[in-house]
Amino acid sequence: TLQDRLSTVFKGLRSKGRLTEADLDATMREIRIALLEADVNLGVVKEFVAAVKERSLGAELSKALNPSQQIIKIVNEELVSILGGEARTIRFAKRPPTVIMLAGLQGAGKTTLAGKLAKWLAGSQHSPLLVAADLQRPNAVNQLQIVGQRAGVQVFAPEPGNGVGDPVDVARRAIEHARTKLHDVVIVDTAGRLGVDAELMQQAADIKAAVNPDETLFVVDAMIGQDAVNTAKAFDEGVGIDGVVLTKLDGDARGGAALSIARVLGKPIMFASNGEALADFDMFHPDRMASRILGMGDVLTLIEQAEKTFDAEQSRAAAEKLMGRGKFGLQDFLSQMQQLRKMGPMSKILGMLPGAGQFKDAINEIDEKEIDRVEAIIYSMTPKERDDVSILNGSRRARIAKGAGVQVSDVNKLVTRFVEARKMMESMAGGGMPMPGMPGMG
Ligand code: GDP
Ligand code: MG
Repeated sequence: TLQDRLSTVFKGLRSKGRLTEADLDATMREIRIALLEADVNLGVVKEFVAAVKERSLGAELSKALNPSQQIIKIVNEELVSILGGEARTIRFAKRPPTVIMLAGLQGAGKTTLAGKLAKWLAGSQHSPLLVAADLQRPNAVNQLQIVGQRAGVQVFAPEPGNGVGDPVDVARRAIEHARTKLHDVVIVDTAGRLGVDAELMQQAADIKAAVNPDETLFVVDAMIGQDAVNTAKAFDEGVGIDGVVLTKLDGDARGGAALSIARVLGKPIMFASNGEALADFDMFHPDRMASRILGMGDVLTLIEQAEKTFDAEQSRAAAEKLMGRGKFGLQDFLSQMQQLRKMGPMSKILGMLPGAGQFKDAINEIDEKEIDRVEAIIYSMTPKERDDVSILNGSRRARIAKGAGVQVSDVNKLVTRFVEARKMMESMAGGGMPMPGMPGMG
C-alpha cells in the first residue's frame, strides 16, 4: 500500500544525516510509484512529485529538522494543500430553505449520507427535510423512509399507489412543502446507475434545474480508485457539482481517489463517511487524510514538536539577551522577524493580535516590500555589525546599502529605528516577548 511504501522510503531516509540529489531522486521515484499503486491519477502524480521535488531543492535548510524530516514535512504539506487546505462546510442560503442535492453512482452511499447529513444538521438547530427523488429502484423510497426514521427527520416522498412518479416533480413539490412547513434545509436524494449514463445524467440535471440547489454534492465511494476521477468529471460536466463527499473510508481505501478528485476537479471534499451507522460521519479534514495517506501521524507530530521546540529556544535566547544577558542585536531581530513571517504576511499576523482593531490603519500600511528591504539590509551586514550597530560608520553603511540594493538613507533609517525600538523594549524588559515590528513599518 501507499502507507507501507512511503514508510519504507522514509525509513531509509530517516537514518541519513544528509541528503544528496541522488537521494532526492530515489525518494521521488518511490513516491511516484507508491502514488500510482494507490490509484492516484497519473497527471496528479506528476504534478505532485514535481512540486515536492522543487520545494525540496529550494528549501531553506531548517535547523530544527534533519533532511528526511524536511522531505516528509514537504510531502505532507503538499498533500494537505492538494486535498483542499482548510475544510469547508455547507454554505447556507440567505433565504431558506438551503437546498442540498446528492448525486453519484448507485451504491455510492447517497441515501445513507442523506440520513447522516440530516441527523448532523438536526443536531445543530436545523430542521431538515429529506426528499426521495430516487424513483428508479422500487425500494429506494422505502430505504430513505427508514433512514429518515432512524435520523428522526421528515421524509418527503411521492404518494404511494400512483405508479412511478416523476422525480423532478417530486423535488419541486418538496421545496414548496419545505417552505410551508418551515424546514430550513432540504436534502434531495437522487437515483444512480452502476455506470455513468446519459439518461441518468439528464435526470440529475433536470432535478438540479428544478430545485436550484445551494450545494450539489457528488458522493463517491472511496474504494473505487482510479475510476473515481472519470466518474467525478462526468458528473461535473453533466450536472455540475460544488463539492465532494467520500464514503466508505472505514474500508482500506488508499486515499488515491480523494487525492485525484480533489486535484483534477479543484472542488473541495467536504464530508467523510466512514461506516454504515448514521453517526459514522464527519467533516472532511485534509490534514487527517494526508496523515492517513502517509501513514505517519506520529512522525508528523514529532516534526511539529521539533519545530516548536526549536522556535521556543530561539525566542528564549533572544529574550535572555534583552534582559541583560547579552545585547539584543540585529541578528536576533532578524530571526524574530523571520519566525513571525513564517506564520504569514505581517499585516495578517499583527491583525490577529488582541486589540489590533485600534491599529487597523497602521497595520494596513505595513508594506511587505519594506520588510523585504529590512531583511536585505541585515543580510548585507557582517555578523559583527549585526551584533553591534554602534560600529556602523559611514563607509560600512555605504557598503551595506550597495549590497542590499538600497539607499544609504534606508540603512540609516533602519538603524535609527532599531536603536529606538530596542530602547523601548529594554525599558519594558523582563516582561514578554520582544515585538520586532517597528523598523518594518512604512
Ligand atoms: P446509494 O445507492 O448511493 O443511495 O447508496 P446507499 O446509501 O444505498 O449505500 C449503499 C451501501 O453502502 C449500503 O449497504 C450502505 O449501508 C453502504 N454504505 C454507505 N456508506 C457507507 C460507509 O461509509 N461505510 C460503509 N462500510 N458502508 C457504507
Ligand atoms: Mg440511494
